Amino acid sequence: MSACRYNADMTATLSPEQIAALCRPSAQPVRIRIVEETGSTNADLLAGLPMLAGPTLLLAKHQTAGRGRAGRTWLSAQGKSLTFSLAWKFGVPVHALVGLPLAVGVALAEALAMFNIDVKLKWPNDLLYNGRKLAGILIESAGAGSVPHDVSWAVIGIGINMSLDQSVSEHIGRPVASIPWMAELDQNTLMAGLLSGLADALVQFEHEGLAAFTGRWNSLDAYAGQVVTIIDNGQVVHEGIGAGVDGIGRFLIDTPGGRVAVMAGDVSLRPREA
Ligand code: ATP
Repeated sequence: MSACRYNADMTATLSPEQIAALCRPSAQPVRIRIVEETGSTNADLLAGLPMLAGPTLLLAKHQTAGRGRAGRTWLSAQGKSLTFSLAWKFGVPVHALVGLPLAVGVALAEALAMFNIDVKLKWPNDLLYNGRKLAGILIESAGAGSVPHDVSWAVIGIGINMSLDQSVSEHIGRPVASIPWMAELDQNTLMAGLLSGLADALVQFEHEGLAAFTGRWNSLDAYAGQVVTIIDNGQVVHEGIGAGVDGIGRFLIDTPGGRVAVMAGDVSLRPREA
């Protein structure tokens, strides 16, 4: 690899046609759009849902107002992050999408493994690399309005840190994962691998539900057998040994008082401070 290419912004080479040409069949119906900059790819797709003819991927080379859960912020930097959202229509009602973040986590982890990037999953919606956050998932769904009640749309937002600068990490207040060579990969091949993995998983989720993913999720669980805490509004509400997820996506903890099943809501999972 030349010195010149080493510093190049590989996201500059992203092309909808090249991504589409490299995708597996399940992702072929996805319309792919790439924009130089936007506030939030999730917000854009949600606003445009009524106009979408079918599944759509929106990738922003630079996202200026990325969103996390509960109105939190997702930070990214051009050429050093991947930020994209996939709008997908399911032939099931919106309540059947419970657990979708876990299936998406499995899909991303399995797709990244094809690029020799081994990640673990942190319930409910994060991917960890060497214990640090590599990627976050934010799913916003819509089942009301003009769509029939047995149909729903999910907008699946994904932010991946490839090689964020230390300054971003300092802004976030904790170290984040960094895989500089990931930013040097052919970004069209990487995106095609991620999109194909997602599409395969979403088709499977629609037909088989979360059951097809819980075993896979548990084998990728970052905190299985470790002491963890669940934090709600800054308060520790449970502490015990992490025991994976159950059939409806709740996180299981073996506490001194017995096994507790935690619903996603707006709670945070943390390893217990040493
Ligand atoms: P926690 O990790 O506290 O459980 P969460 O998974 O609930 O958080 P999300 O809402 O998914 O958090 O993500 C937003 C949070 O992630 C922000 O509040 C910030 O702390 C952190 N964050 C923001 N940008 C990044 C990033 N690029 N990489 C890692 N973490 C980030």
